[in-house]
Amino acid sequence: MTNTRKQFIHINQRIEDAFQKSGRSHTQPVTLLAVSKYHSVQKIHDFYELGQRDFGESYLQEALQKIEANTHKDIIWHFIGPIQSNKTKLIAKNFHWVHSVDRFKIAQRLNTQRAENSNPLNICLQINISQETQKSGFSQDEVTACITEISQLPHLSLRGLMAIPKASNNIEQQKQAFHQLKQLMLQLNQHFNLTMDTLSMGMSNDLDTAITEGATIIRIGTALFGARKKIID
Ligand SMILES: *Cc1c(COP(=O)(O)O)cnc(C)c1O
Repeated sequence: MTNTRKQFIHINQRIEDAFQKSGRSHTQPVTLLAVSKYHSVQKIHDFYELGQRDFGESYLQEALQKIEANTHKDIIWHFIGPIQSNKTKLIAKNFHWVHSVDRFKIAQRLNTQRAENSNPLNICLQINISQETQKSGFSQDEVTACITEISQLPHLSLRGLMAIPKASNNIEQQKQAFHQLKQLMLQLNQHFNLTMDTLSMGMSNDLDTAITEGATIIRIGTALFGARKKIID
């Protein structure tokens, strides 16, 4: 069996195990987002052949080259990296999802630049859940101040929240951050009468805890593709 197939089966098994253990309802399944940054179009193709459809990229130039070179038209592309204002136009044009909307201005620009004849762009608001000064993302107060306006932008579909909690091998700490993100989404839904249904949380190191705490999209790079060689950006 190839390594790719082995990793793919292994991760899907881990997802299934965590799902069963959590006792979650099957009405909110977990989507595996394969984070393919620094990995080749060939690798994307290999996972595609195994049934993978959702792929995530962090760097726009690299992503555009891969989207262009890719021949499978039913791949769902997710942008998960930091967003500078001058990149929003190409992101709005080329992706189905954006997980890393971290300022009101970025939401406005994506909305304006999304083509009239496309489906609304699915977005998650990135929350700085561990309140790290160097990390991007809305604070709780900031998101509260502008979420109504964002939810009303016609070319965006506000799907949920995303976080990259402070890295920790301590399960309790991991749990706490994921739990906070979930509570925040429930509170915002209730308070502002919204219908967000997506919690984008959990990476290779903490995916099991994330699923237990309610993740609906987990973003997995290393555990699927192996280690990244930093070659771009
Ligand atoms: C790179 C990246 C991931 C994947 O991380 P792994 O630890 O390799 O699974 C997930 N989310 C974001 C935002 C990333 O930039």
